Amino acid sequence: MGLRGRLRERGGMTNPASFHHATCGLCGRRADGIGFSPGGRPPAVWVCNDCGLARARTATRMRDFDAVERRAFALAARRAGQFLDTIGKTDLAVLTTEEYESFLRAFQTHFVEEIRRLVEGEATP
Ligand SMILES: [Zn+2]
Repeated sequence: MGLRGRLRERGGMTNPASFHHATCGLCGRRADGIGFSPGGRPPAVWVCNDCGLARARTATRMRDFDAVERRAFALAARRAGQFLDTIGKTDLAVLTTEEYESFLRAFQTHFVEEIRRLVEGEATP
């Protein structure tokens, strides 16, 4: 059973909780030792400096973090597609190594930006 399944068994919610302190529970990049636990109890959501404590706090209150993740994925996929449009190649097989890495980087960069933006948008005053 994956992490999400274990989380559902525990609480029935799809929080971005991460049991591993090395991985940011929001963007999936390297965490920086910042963790947030609702009510001060584990499991903590570990995040990177760029996602930050405020977003971690917001994310743990979300009803369905998975839906936010899927939305960020879709937006990032669109941006990666736009990168292909700019170089005029849609067949991945004809990309150079540099173009392929730029395509993947476009996806990753936009995924990270979108997930942070979407979580921020969920913040309650
Ligand atoms: Zn992060």
